[in-house]
Amino acid sequence: YLYFNWKKGICYWLRSVVKMSTLRENKLQGKIAIITGGASGIGEATARLFANHGAAVLVIADIQDELGRQVAESIGTHRCTYVHCDVSDEDQVKTMVEQTVHKYGHLDIMFSNAGILSSPDQTVLDLDFSAFDRLFDVNVRGMALCVKHAARVMVERRVKGSIVCTASVAANHGMEIRTDYCMSKHAVLGLVRSASVQLGVHGIRVNCVSPNALATPLTCRAAGKGVEEVEKAYEKFTRLKGIALKAGHVADAVLYLACGESEFVTGHDLVVDGGFFRP
Ligand code: NAD
Repeated sequence: YLYFNWKKGICYWLRSVVKMSTLRENKLQGKIAIITGGASGIGEATARLFANHGAAVLVIADIQDELGRQVAESIGTHRCTYVHCDVSDEDQVKTMVEQTVHKYGHLDIMFSNAGILSSPDQTVLDLDFSAFDRLFDVNVRGMALCVKHAARVMVERRVKGSIVCTASVAANHGMEIRTDYCMSKHAVLGLVRSASVQLGVHGIRVNCVSPNALATPLTCRAAGKGVEEVEKAYEKFTRLKGIALKAGHVADAVLYLACGESEFVTGHDLVVDGGFFRP
């Protein structure tokens, strides 16, 4: 009797270990997702994480065609495709979303992440409005277009999907420079909160992630410095010491908001800032 129970115990333990590891790696099993700005930085890290978690189809939408194709190829073209799409152009966003749905049947997840940074000279006294308008076209209009068209197909197909936008710690604090960028990220919070109120009735969740400053091609280009130097410079903005914020940390937060583990979370701003600190 004891021998039998001992064997049964081992079998049970093995079964739960296998089940737990399967669950851990398959949070997005069979899901169809669009990731804007997926050719680099946070978007790329998220595409790779989504693929590791069993997403069936990943559509990377970006304007850096060569990089975007490379990312899609390295994930595997059987389930990751690259589409050229400037998120500030409504026709391009509508076509990209509709083609995804036409090809794959529906859309479960929209990660609206594409964004640009402004010049440090954009203080309130020196705002240049042509740069301001371009930034708003991408960071505000582009986010709203992606939310609008993803939500439309989700409602149409009765999909209880998840929409995640990338805001920033700049959405929660004032900045000494880059007024327009800071304003654009505050607008993303407004979009997420309104959309979550309006789409809840359809079972669609809308949330955002707000990363602290991290070294990605965006910020390294702006600083004209390499990853290590930029990470060092950003150390002062966090209370957690000895660890630099990486795109993968942000991708983990996006995965949580995209998958079923957050099924009762909507209208939320998930801050990934290591404890924001203004030096
Ligand atoms: P990144 O430059 O590495 O990635 C942004 C991607 O968006 C690029 O591949 C770029 O080609 C794409 N993109 C830009 N304009 C586009 C357009 N009009 N249409 C489609 N794609 C476009 O930068 P990242 O740091 O990964 O930034 C991703 C998001 O994170 C942005 O919204 C950014 O504002 C936000 N963010 C970044 C930081 C940071 O410190 N890096 C901090 C907080 C928030």
